[in-house]
Amino acid sequence: MSLNPALEDIHHCPRCGRVPEIDFPRSINCPHCGYGAYYNPKPVACAIPTDRKGHLWLLRRGFAPNVGKWSMPGGFVDLGESVEDAARREVMEEMAIEIELTGLIGVYSRPQDRTVVVVYAAATRGTPSRTEEALEVCAFAPNDIPWLQLAFWSDERALRDHLSRRPPAGAAPAPS
Ligand SMILES: [Zn+2]
Repeated sequence: MSLNPALEDIHHCPRCGRVPEIDFPRSINCPHCGYGAYYNPKPVACAIPTDRKGHLWLLRRGFAPNVGKWSMPGGFVDLGESVEDAARREVMEEMAIEIELTGLIGVYSRPQDRTVVVVYAAATRGTPSRTEEALEVCAFAPNDIPWLQLAFWSDERALRDHLSRRPPAGAAPAPS
């Protein structure tokens, strides 16, 4: 997949029609009329909702890419909302449940990807449901995570980071 299919198809300045300077995949600048545009990765907001027992809710994706693979709920941040708002909205859309964000797990990006994935830990009280976007939802104990059937490298990284940092179930809270 191209990093920037929109820019790949452009050979003329969209404003004046003359030949622009293209620095693929990052930018287009027109020395004739001053038109310029810069392209950036898109932020994706995800959450790992966790129940009282410490089980992690994942969904089996009902949409491309990677249909049928397990993933964190999440999606693109829209203009007009914060990354946190987007995480809460996406979890509601994909799992039909409200969450409380409890901290940042990590930010995941690679030069060959068009996204920057921001992942939050989250608490949820109720039970998520299947939706049009989720073929199945399941709360996995840490030892039962389907590592070989995850949709994206960021799923694996965020789950490993999350599990390595949190206290084991039943551990005494840290002294304050
Ligand atoms: Zn121009």
